[in-house]
Amino acid sequence: MVLHTLELLKKEVPLEEESLCIPKDIKTGLVLVDIINGFCTIGAGNLAPREPNHQISEMVDESVKLSRIFCENKWPVLAFLDTHQPGKLEHPYPSHCLAGSHESNLVPALEWLEKEPNVTIRRKDCYDGYIGSIQEDGSNAFADWIKTNNIQLLLVAGICTDICVLDFVCSTLSARNRGFLAPLEEVVVYSHGCATFDFPESDARGTKDALAHPQEIMHHMGLYMAKGRGAKIAKDVTFDGLKK
Ligand SMILES: [Zn+2]
Repeated sequence: MVLHTLELLKKEVPLEEESLCIPKDIKTGLVLVDIINGFCTIGAGNLAPREPNHQISEMVDESVKLSRIFCENKWPVLAFLDTHQPGKLEHPYPSHCLAGSHESNLVPALEWLEKEPNVTIRRKDCYDGYIGSIQEDGSNAFADWIKTNNIQLLLVAGICTDICVLDFVCSTLSARNRGFLAPLEEVVVYSHGCATFDFPESDARGTKDALAHPQEIMHHMGLYMAKGRGAKIAKDVTFDGLKK
């Protein structure tokens, strides 16, 4: 039933993905969105998967692969970590990823990033990493990171495709279009490096005020909407001039 719906959806809103080969003379940055226990590790809180999930596991594996390449080459990586202060809820979601908790930290497969000199960790308390980068003095930590590193191409991976990844990509593209993010030119979302959660309609039906969130459909729509804002969607990513 869900597959059938997905097939229909892909016919009505087809998503063309490309193979991205990053040229060696283009300064590239990697943004990892919320690849933290609270969204990816089984049983780690209210918004964590309850059972093994293929799309989420693949997203983590692909993010680890990309992170290794970026760190081996000392290229810039920015990891957003969803982190909330106790008592300050993020409507409409239940309490999640509280500051100081295991939930708000990188998944075990990415914990090593914290010690890498080319990696910037940015905790944020809202969906959108661009908004979450605004600091008390009005500056934007993400925009500063782009400028300091002269990033021309931004590669984005993480969770959720249709929520935090999409919101961040939309804001970044708006800011780029207004000229705030020079020299940034291109934003690429790596589809296998993204995932969303699964809350099928059959479960939502019996839950008050719950919105159905079928994983494959919402993942597809998240990518589709990012593309509609001007992002490129890559089904694979290779690096020109790098030995694999
Ligand atoms: Zn949150």
